[in-house]
Amino acid sequence: NEKMDCLFCKIIAGEIPSNKVYEDEYTYAFRDINPQAPVHVLLVPKKHMKNILECDAETAAHLTDAVRALAKIEHVDENGFRLLTNCGQHGCQSVHHLHLHLLGGKQLSEKMD
Ligand code: AMP
Repeated sequence: NEKMDCLFCKIIAGEIPSNKVYEDEYTYAFRDINPQAPVHVLLVPKKHMKNILECDAETAAHLTDAVRALAKIEHVDENGFRLLTNCGQHGCQSVHHLHLHLLGGKQLSEKMD
């Protein structure tokens, strides 16, 4: 079962500890264990889905709402931030539960690959 072995499902369930930043009925956000910027938060839907290709419109809307809340909480709404999701092999996706990386807190590089 894909879900039973899923690291982020276990984090959402509280079976594996995480540094929680935000939570609502549909989403959960926590600090990346290996931060690439002063602000590096992972935002995940509570419902398991492999990647953005499996994301339904309703979940996408919940994620957008959470991004807005998170940007305020992390104080990156003024200066801006980067939001990205890796998908599949070429995207270097390593955890197969959809997650959005929210990066900020400094001037980020123009280079994206
Ligand atoms: P990706 O490579 O896009 O699939 O992103 C996976 C991210 O999850 C990486 O940035 C990892 O540093 C992060 N990560 C892996 N395990 C954990 C964990 N237990 N807690 C927080 N972040 C994690």
